[in-house]
Formats: sequence, C-alpha cells, structure tokens
Amino acid sequence: MMLAVFAILGLILGSFCNVVISRGPVLWGLSEEPRPQGPFDLSRPRSHCPSCKRTLAPAELVPLLSYAVLRGRCRQCGARIAGRYPLIELLGGLAGIAAVLCAPGVAGAAFLLGFLLLLLAAAAIDAETGYLPDALTGPALWLALLAAAAGLSVPPGAAIIGAAAGYAAFRGIAGGYAALRGREGLGRGDAKLLAAGGAALGPLALPFVVLASAACALAVIAAAAARGRPVEGGTALRFGPYLAGGIALVLLAEAALPGRVVPPWPLL
Ligand SMILES: [Zn+2]
Repeated sequence: MMLAVFAILGLILGSFCNVVISRGPVLWGLSEEPRPQGPFDLSRPRSHCPSCKRTLAPAELVPLLSYAVLRGRCRQCGARIAGRYPLIELLGGLAGIAAVLCAPGVAGAAFLLGFLLLLLAAAAIDAETGYLPDALTGPALWLALLAAAAGLSVPPGAAIIGAAAGYAAFRGIAGGYAALRGREGLGRGDAKLLAAGGAALGPLALPFVVLASAACALAVIAAAAARGRPVEGGTALRFGPYLAGGIALVLLAEAALPGRVVPPWPLL
C-alpha cells in the first residue's frame, strides 16, 4: 500500500520536476532564453505544447501514460515531446519506490523522496544549462539538516560537519586547480551540492560519494573517447549529474544497510 502511494507520489512530483527543469533556469536567470511575456512562474502559464502553444488538457498531463498514449507527439501539431519528460517522471516514480524500500517508516521515506527529487531536478538542470541552481541545492541542504535534527538520518553534529566538509573540500580543490591551471575546474554549485550530500550522510560518507561520482564520470569519458570523440584537459564535463547520482546511490545504500556502507561517525 505504502509502496503504491509513494510510487504514484513520485510520478506526480516527477512531473512537477519537469516544470521546474523547464522554467527554473529562465525564472532564476540561468538561461539565455528570454522570459516569456505575461505572468511567468512555476504555475503560470498552464502547461502547454512548446510548439503550438495549446494548453494541455488534464488527460494529457498523466505521468508516463499520456506520453505512451500520445506516442511522444503533441495531439494537435504533432511536434515531438522531448524524451526528458517521461524519463524524469519514471525516475520520480522509481525514487518513490526506492525511498519506501530503503527507509524504515513514512517520515524517513518522505525525506528520502524529497531529497532525491531535489537531486534529480538539480542534475537535469545542470545537464541542460551547466548551472546547479542555489534554488535547489539550498533547499536540499536545509532538508538534510532538518532530517538530521528530526532523527531521520545521521546525528545532527555529523550532518553539520558533513555539510561544512563537503563544501570546503570542493572549494579547496577548485581553488588549487584554478591557481595551478589558471581556469575554473569545479563550479561553486558542485561544492554546494556536495555540502547537501555531506549534511544527509555525514563527513565519512564524502569519499564514497566522490569516488562513486568520479567512477561514473570517468566511465562516460572513456565511452566518449572509445567512440572517437576528442577528450582533452579543457574538455568541459558537467559534474553535477554524476555528483547527484553518487549522492543518491550512497544515500540509498546507507538507508537500506545502516552503518554497513559508511562507517558510523564516532564523535557527535
Ligand atoms: Zn503542439
């Protein structure tokens, strides 16, 4: 029962993530796309086809099902609907299922689902724009600190030290890299995202998160090189999606097997 409720909740919130991913960059000034005329926020104007501007009927807004029934095309103008929409909805539904399977209790599952969805939206926006918005990494950090205060994750002291250590580690590496190479290697958004991960998992989890993220990123670079794409030191890689994936993996593993993945924080 709880599994079904969280799966459906994840699908619906995943659908809302799509709105955030589409409009957030314009709302927060991270996109070169001009702000449309008239009222523009996360709820206005109503969801519409980007091609023919027709407002979508409620039956066209059902997560996954509408895309399948419409076969990925607008009913009126036949324009292709980006595959990102059903993908994000699917990942939202899977996040709901994973949250219930990994966390004991409703409150723990609700925290996991909320945190995973913030990671998902942040990762998708970074993949599309190259920016990790504060409007998403900030709430992720606060949500993790609140969960620690409510006894849903690590002890509060570990959450605070984890957040500071995550931020400081990436800012330190970024500063060192910039001084050595004379160009920016790691964005500030990556440091804020790792701070949120440290708050959710405690400082001892950070090496696992960074290793998991770097392994995924290297695998993608190796795959690109194998297909004959040139890879050099200056080749830009948006690290946010990998970092979000690494945090999500360690978070779910740690929720499912408490104390077995990350050593318990001994001090606070
Ligand atoms: Zn259309």
